Amino acid sequence: MPNGTIKDIEERYKYLGIMQSNINHEAEVRHKAITEYKKLLHQVLCSQLNARNQVMAINTYALFVIRYTAGIIKWTEEAIKETYTATRKLLTVHGALHPKSDTTRLYLDRKDGGRGFKDVQQTVKEEAQNIKAYAASMATSDKLLAEFQLSALTMELRPDDEELDWHMKPLHGVYYRQIFKGDDLHQTYMWLNKGNLTANTESLIMAAQKQVLPTRQLQTKIYHTRDYPRCRLCKDAPETMQHIISGCKQLARNAYTKRHNRVAGVVYRSLCDEYGLNKPQHWWEAPGKVNENDRATIL
Ligand SMILES: [Zn+2]
Repeated sequence: MPNGTIKDIEERYKYLGIMQSNINHEAEVRHKAITEYKKLLHQVLCSQLNARNQVMAINTYALFVIRYTAGIIKWTEEAIKETYTATRKLLTVHGALHPKSDTTRLYLDRKDGGRGFKDVQQTVKEEAQNIKAYAASMATSDKLLAEFQLSALTMELRPDDEELDWHMKPLHGVYYRQIFKGDDLHQTYMWLNKGNLTANTESLIMAAQKQVLPTRQLQTKIYHTRDYPRCRLCKDAPETMQHIISGCKQLARNAYTKRHNRVAGVVYRSLCDEYGLNKPQHWWEAPGKVNENDRATIL
C-alpha cells in the first residue's frame, strides 16, 4: 500500500463458508461438515418420509454439506471413514439398517436392488473433479484459477478395485444367487422404486433376503447358539427364511392365505378398473362373490 503494508490476518475468517486465515483450516472445516452432516442425517431419519424419499433427502440435503467442501479442502481417508461409520450407526439406531446386514447394498442403485445411498467417497471425488475441470477450462482467461490449477489438490482416493461385491459374500450372497436364475430384475426390484415403505420395513425385508435374520437354522449352523434347527411352529423342517416364507404348514392355514388374498385383491381391483366394474371402496374390504357388467364377469 502507498503508506505501509496490509496487516497480516491474526484471526481466521470465513470465506464462502470455509474457515480460512493464511491457509484453509481443513481439519476444522471437515469436523464441522461431519457434525452438520450427522445432524441433518438424524433430522431426515426422524422425518415421516418413506424410505425412498429419505434416501433422496440424505443424498441431496444432508450430503450437500460435505459436497460443498470437497475439492476445496482435502478429505482424508479417516474423515471419509468417519462419515461411513456415522451413517451406519445412525441408520441402525433409527432402525433403517439391520445390525447384521452388510452395508455394500446400501450404496447400490435402487434399480439394481440397493438402497440408493450416494457414496461419500464418490461424491467427494466427483465434486473435486468438477472443480478441477472448471479451473482448467477457465485457466487461460483467469489468473487466479490458473494458480489454483497449479496447486490443485490431488485427492487420495480409494482404488476402484474395491468393487461393491455383496453378491460374492457367502452368506449375504445366497439371495443374490437365487434371484439371478433368470428373473426380471426390473420387476424384482420395482418395490424399491415404486414402493411406499418405511425405512424400517425396507431394511427388514433386505435383512430377510440376505438371510441374516436369526432363524433357528442360522442360530444352529452359523452362530452355534442353538442345537436344534427345526421350525419353532411345525417342527417338521429346518427353520430357514424360505421355510418361513412359503414352506411352513402351520403358517399355511392362516398367514399364507391372508397374503394370497391380499395379492389377489390387488389383481382384482386392477381388473375392476380395466373393465369399469364397481369395486369396494377400500383395499381391505372383501369383494362380493360375483361382480359383473356388460363387458366382464368376475367370479
Ligand atoms: Zn414350520
